[in-house]
Amino acid sequence: MSRRPVTVVTGGSRGIGAATCVRLAADGHDLVLGYLHDDDAAKATADRVRAAGARCVTVRGDTSEECGVDRLFDIAGAEFGAVTGLVNNAGVTGTPGRLADIRTEDLRRVLDVNLLGYLLCCRRAARDMAESGGGAIVNVSSAAATLGSPGRYVHYAATKAATDTLTLGLSKELGPDGIRVNAVAPGIIDTDMHAAMGDPDRPALAAAEIPLGRAGQPAEVAAAIAWLLSADAAYTTGTILRVAGGR
Ligand code: NAP
Repeated sequence: MSRRPVTVVTGGSRGIGAATCVRLAADGHDLVLGYLHDDDAAKATADRVRAAGARCVTVRGDTSEECGVDRLFDIAGAEFGAVTGLVNNAGVTGTPGRLADIRTEDLRRVLDVNLLGYLLCCRRAARDMAESGGGAIVNVSSAAATLGSPGRYVHYAATKAATDTLTLGLSKELGPDGIRVNAVAPGIIDTDMHAAMGDPDRPALAAAEIPLGRAGQPAEVAAAIAWLLSADAAYTTGTILRVAGGR
């Protein structure tokens, strides 16, 4: 019998990350679910993963810190053996506003989590997967990378454009090691992220700007991530798959 895939999902407790964990569990992965604050949400998602027949370990820690990332992968290896997949998903927008009004500490936090955190996770996955014979990485980018998010989050959009470039470069660097690197670029998805930033009506109000006429659901992004991690995507690397309702 072939070994079950072992996938690390950062920010796996809520939103797109939680939907991804549940979808991957149904697809036969064992899950390492990373999160930062919300123990109850992590436990609830882990329960859903286990109910789908997968093994799951939850790891609390900050992906913008090297020690947090190392702990996540060390626990993954100790619990389940070699990591075969990474979903680099933990991200923050910071408070919306024009760049002129954003505080330096908020800029720094968005860069630290969305860019340094993604780089640290990719670096550790590259090291571990090269040693164990290959794997697949999916970076969660955003349609904001090409739309720019003026008036709200240009700093956030800039980190997502960097994610796309990271995906492209790393796919070329790691292809010879048998490691595929892709991204998904969601549009507006109905998660807690909008309410947390004081913008709870954003998914509903944005519907008019979206060709398919509605915000997306986390499970619709999870399906794209699951495909990119699957054997069906064995010849797909360096791709940024837009899941944005035509936006
Ligand atoms: P969300 O509902 O706010 O969930 C964020 C998740 O990330 C939570 O599990 C949170 O854990 C975790 N997290 C945040 N900062 C972390 C850190 N420093 N270290 C470890 N975990 C951390 O977010 P979402 O809407 O699902 O977004 C997920 C990803 O999709 C992000 O990269 C986001 O940029 C991208 N995206 C979202 C949308 C959208 O419309 N929602 C659109 C395009 C792209 P705690 O709850 O424990 O803090």
